[in-house]
Amino acid sequence: MTELIELAEAALRNSHAPYSRFRVGAALRSQAGHVYSGCNVECASYPLGGCAERAAIAAAVLAEGPSLRITELHVVARDDSGTLRSAAPCGACRQLILEFSSDAVIGFLGHDGKAQRWSIRDLLPAAFNLESQSA
Ligand SMILES: [Zn+2]
Repeated sequence: MTELIELAEAALRNSHAPYSRFRVGAALRSQAGHVYSGCNVECASYPLGGCAERAAIAAAVLAEGPSLRITELHVVARDDSGTLRSAAPCGACRQLILEFSSDAVIGFLGHDGKAQRWSIRDLLPAAFNLESQSA
């Protein structure tokens, strides 16, 4: 995951986070072996902002198409002082990651300050599944 951590670090330097001052970078590796990164982009109308994970996934889908499969994804976050911060993917991002892999490995700094590695299934055990919604 070292390469992904470095890419996520580089991505967060370009984040647009004037409101939260919480810079986030994400980088993923596809099953095809390519890597993609993204950063958070905030907006004065808060709900319109976007997460780094979803930006990385959008870049990957743009390059590889809708058959994209994610093998691993790493998130790095820092505040304005440069201090590392905990940054597990939010619920929306977990759902989107799962859309592109049910066995992706997700890395991030946990609330305890230690590096965490989870499977996406463990992070989102009861994911929304459109096919199971029919009566
Ligand atoms: Zn998110």
